[in-house]
Amino acid sequence: AELSALLHSRIRDVPDYPEPGVMFKDITPLLADPSAFTALTDALAEFCVANGATKVVGLEARGFILGAPVAVRAGLGFIPVRKAGKLPGATLSQSYDLEYGSAEIEVHAEDLVAGDRVMVIDDVLATGGTAEASVRLIRRAGAEVAGIAVLMELGFLGGRERLLPALDGAPLDAL
Ligand code: 5GP
Repeated sequence: AELSALLHSRIRDVPDYPEPGVMFKDITPLLADPSAFTALTDALAEFCVANGATKVVGLEARGFILGAPVAVRAGLGFIPVRKAGKLPGATLSQSYDLEYGSAEIEVHAEDLVAGDRVMVIDDVLATGGTAEASVRLIRRAGAEVAGIAVLMELGFLGGRERLLPALDGAPLDAL
């Protein structure tokens, strides 16, 4: 509860960003505060270890900022899941629906193999579309999903409900 309060106090609400009617959760004040950033990193790393993760996947772009120190802290490798067209090697890709149109994420195929237990890290779970696509990508690579860990869940968008079938029992934690 103390950790949640600290993290909450370092997240800034920005109205009408990136478009009218949206309240954007800005995590840059948290990143700029070393005690909050460290506490967040430690808590996420603990969740990785508690769930037997062997690799950390970070979702572009804020999932990189959080996932990389978590991987180092937990003693695990870090694997970037990127927007389509950014990775130079052979990739697996997964598309998913947005409110208007669709998006696509990719991972280097050789980075995930059978036997891996992968923890997915991102800053915000909103509709759950990005996280769900990452779960599909990880499973298609032959790896197992150890869980999903986010800083913050926007519960009113129903991401958790959308994710539940894809998670197939893997834990979802929002700090
Ligand atoms: P979803 O796919 O769950 O709808 O959207 C989640 C993705 O969008 C995450 O990668 C997250 O970084 C980004 N996102 C959506 N809304 C917000 C927000 O209010 N604040 C931040 N920082 N990221 C958001």
